[in-house]
Amino acid sequence: MKKFIFNLLLLTVLPLLSTAQSRKCGTMERMHKEHEQNPHIKLQRAQIEAYTQQHAHLYNTAKTSVVHTIPVVVHIVLPNPTIVTDAQVASQITVLNQDFRKMNADTNLIPGAFKGLAADSEIEFCLANTDPNGNPTTGITRTVTTVSSFGTDDSVKYSSMGGIDAWNTSNYMNIWVCNPSGGLLGYAQFPGGAAATDGVVILYTAFGTMGTAAAPYNGVRTATHEVGHYLNLYHIWGDEPACDNDDLVADTPLQAADNAGCPTFPLLDACQTASPGVMFMNYMDYVNDACMQMFSTGQKARMKTALTGPRVSLTTSAVCTPTSIKPELNLLSNIQVYPNPTQGILHIQSADILKNITLNVFDYTGKKYVSQNYMNTSEIHISLSDYAKGIYLVQLIADNKIFTHKVVLE
Ligand SMILES: [Zn+2]
Repeated sequence: MKKFIFNLLLLTVLPLLSTAQSRKCGTMERMHKEHEQNPHIKLQRAQIEAYTQQHAHLYNTAKTSVVHTIPVVVHIVLPNPTIVTDAQVASQITVLNQDFRKMNADTNLIPGAFKGLAADSEIEFCLANTDPNGNPTTGITRTVTTVSSFGTDDSVKYSSMGGIDAWNTSNYMNIWVCNPSGGLLGYAQFPGGAAATDGVVILYTAFGTMGTAAAPYNGVRTATHEVGHYLNLYHIWGDEPACDNDDLVADTPLQAADNAGCPTFPLLDACQTASPGVMFMNYMDYVNDACMQMFSTGQKARMKTALTGPRVSLTTSAVCTPTSIKPELNLLSNIQVYPNPTQGILHIQSADILKNITLNVFDYTGKKYVSQNYMNTSEIHISLSDYAKGIYLVQLIADNKIFTHKVVLE
């Protein structure tokens, strides 16, 4: 039976090989199979859609200042999993954070007609630092496999099939980095599916900005796209040529088909016959990494609704609280950090003279960039100009008290 299903899978996946030139995501194919095999999941999806339609309006603004953080575990499953380094994983998490916070450096490429719709999704990601047994972890696992390529049958998500079992999918967003078959760059499971297979699968050459990542998919947008699905977004063209039933998002123009490569604005099609045309630069289209730059406000609303509904358990998961911050410490007050955002130089000023100071700067993966000690002072000046643009956490410990502050490096 299993072999029969496998052959069936091959037949479904093989036609994709002939068009493997452009981005290929297996999310919808997998979803259709999942719904055939488990009709109750299809029913659950309908209920989640009803919840989404009822609640999405709560987040339908450019800014709500409620930031949700999703703990991540990355499972590297390859014949030689060490070829994907910790630094490569960190580069992926950094860009996920930039894209979902609209802090990506290429927002200037969004055409003026769509700029107002580009949203800060107010979603961040951190590598787990506590494993399911409560032990410290890097948030990265490595599994040596003899399986040369994995189908959309989810075998990569099972230790018994050459992959690795998911970490509790209520507390972690699981990302499996492997070699999917059929020319796929990746696929995701929508909210409402089976717990054991919940998460995102990414091709190891389309993951991170360095190491095994290869052009044109080394801009890390495969993960941005797949995490979009994981947070309940559909492809922007709705996986159908008609112009009536699209991606269930009101502010993305109806679109007939997927786009590939790097189109020139404005791009018109059967559904959009006049400028500004289709929103091909959206993360949920199929264009090259370098040519996609935005989620829309309506897409943000769907994702945030997933995080207050079917994916709410992720937002209360404590598996990536920085371990270096000890909760029993008292808080330091009357500290100012400026300018914020900064282009490099950061001033930290205290109203009082502080003694025995330790200053740490982390990024959102928990990686420490700065760690310095000072004796007695009320003023510290540091430079972050050597580091990548993004979100950093400044931590000041003095007199057994602690202060943490989020800064944005532009
Ligand atoms: Zn997709």
